[in-house]
Amino acid sequence: NRQWRLKNRPVGMIDENDFSWHEEAVRQPEKDEVLVRSVYLSLDPTNRIWITDMPQYMEPVQVGDVMRGIAIGVVETSEHANFAPGDIVSGMWGWQEYATLPAQQLTKIPSDLPVPLDAWTSVLGPTGMTAYFGLLDIGQPKQGETVIVSAAAGAVGSLVGQIAKIKGCRAVGLAGTDEKCNWLTNDLGFDAAVNYKTTELDKAIAEACPDGIDINFENVGGKILDTILTQINMRARIVLCGLIANYNSDEPVPGPYHFAQILMQRARLEGFIILDYIPQFPHAIAEMATWLAEGKLKYKVDVVKGLKEAPTAVNYLFTGRNIGKLVVQVSDL
Ligand code: NDP
Repeated sequence: NRQWRLKNRPVGMIDENDFSWHEEAVRQPEKDEVLVRSVYLSLDPTNRIWITDMPQYMEPVQVGDVMRGIAIGVVETSEHANFAPGDIVSGMWGWQEYATLPAQQLTKIPSDLPVPLDAWTSVLGPTGMTAYFGLLDIGQPKQGETVIVSAAAGAVGSLVGQIAKIKGCRAVGLAGTDEKCNWLTNDLGFDAAVNYKTTELDKAIAEACPDGIDINFENVGGKILDTILTQINMRARIVLCGLIANYNSDEPVPGPYHFAQILMQRARLEGFIILDYIPQFPHAIAEMATWLAEGKLKYKVDVVKGLKEAPTAVNYLFTGRNIGKLVVQVSDL
């Protein structure tokens, strides 16, 4: 069983040398345990948070541990009545080819929905749930409102804009390349997209949001959040989903200087962690799967082949090389 273990806590961007490559024998399951083989490993911006020792929403990964990660795999051997060889499951067994773990740490992927397996890494997995509950529960969109989303061509952001459209809103995305902006407006139905690297951001946002901003789905923070704050409407909602601009920095990035706008516009800013919504996932999965089948939702999975690539590929999330959901394909199904 080959695996990546955390060797030391990174400073700045992750370096392959922050992890060590281990090989050990696969352990056969004991009573109530299951042996799984990894197929997809999800790479997520929060991986960078888990390997710091800052206060966070889960225990940090300890130096020496197998790197934590959300994965999808197939059951090889089972010593638990609810799982059988061939079942497709998800869990948090991390950056390794095989895992032997208690059955209660696994969730079966429903086999009754006619969707490809990669949909469970994206639109029907934690990524899709984040877009769904973040926008609908925290953002409370109303028909005709303007929704702006940062990191819009990423896994979560690309779904947020599409759900905003389903709810009758104007959807505006911010992304770091023209290729990403074109994907948002041409393929996903966003009303406007702004390349935050090549435009004068405040002017470009003002043009894309002529009626101001009612909901900001914030994935980035820093300068982007700051500029958006100057254009929020009265009673705007700011869905604080992520602050990726901060994750590689030991110091908070400066700003937002315009924080006072939250007060001036009587806006509501609310952070959320998707884990709190797990009991409500089945309802959301059913609705998202319906939108998928109706062609109202599209998703893209950006696949990197081979577990060995994980420490290098995780940085694509910070350089913006990924489009849509970034995953590592560890093995074929
Ligand atoms: P993405 O697929 O969106 O990948 C990250 C993207 O962020 C990159 O492609 C890049 O796109 C952009 N980006 C990276 N660094 C910067 C920067 N310094 N300034 C501006 N843009 C940047 O990742 P996810 O969809 O998985 O995650 C998006 C956000 O949602 C993250 O902040 C993540 O932490 C958060 N999240 C929160 C959850 C929760 O429960 N609250 C759950 C899941 C995710 P570009 O080319 O446009 O710069």
